[in-house]
Amino acid sequence: MKSRGELAEGAEKLLSAVEEKLKFLSLLGVDFIMEESPLLSLEESILQCQLCPLSQTRSNAVPGEGNPNADLMFVGEAPGRDEDIQGKPFVGRAGQLLTKIINAMQCDRDEVYITNVVKCRPPGNRTPEGAEIERCKTYLLRQIDRIQPKVIVSLGKVASDFFIQSSLGMTALRGDFYAFHHIKVMPTFHPSYLIRNEGNRKLKKMVWEDMKKVMAFLGKK
Ligand code: URA
Repeated sequence: MKSRGELAEGAEKLLSAVEEKLKFLSLLGVDFIMEESPLLSLEESILQCQLCPLSQTRSNAVPGEGNPNADLMFVGEAPGRDEDIQGKPFVGRAGQLLTKIINAMQCDRDEVYITNVVKCRPPGNRTPEGAEIERCKTYLLRQIDRIQPKVIVSLGKVASDFFIQSSLGMTALRGDFYAFHHIKVMPTFHPSYLIRNEGNRKLKKMVWEDMKKVMAFLGKK
């Protein structure tokens, strides 16, 4: 029978062999397909990502930020100019409005998790292309898998299309819960759309109605 010391030495050797192997796989770019990496190392992989041409034009990839155990997750389309510069999601004008919405839901920004379908800014803030969404998909899916939120709020058409198979436009789609695997998804208007249509108070009201449903589901008054 092996002594404690021998067992500890064996375990240490095994650990360093595994670490060596992981380093080697990471050199090959394989770490991005490792299923067991926690949220932080997933975010690290996103920061290094070169999977599509958006990596050539970005200043910073924007993995997302917030509570790794959040019940509530907000998913937007793609980083804009401010987000690209700061490497953080929703920090520009639309982000300030999103923060207001989150606060009105009796939450702080750091209680929820905020991210986008595509993690790098499309040049000129164009809509991300299908191939870019497809390449980036693995990251959002794995973020969701690690965070296991109870509800995802999809902001705008690109994010809503990611989760919901429907030909409906946002006006018809918003306001109802949909299922994405076992997670509820509430599609609502993108904050940028609210800003572009500032005069239309009805839109803000609709978003608030949607958020009230989310709060009720999460047990918030
Ligand atoms: N619009 C988005 O969809 N995401 C951001 O992070 C900022 C603006």
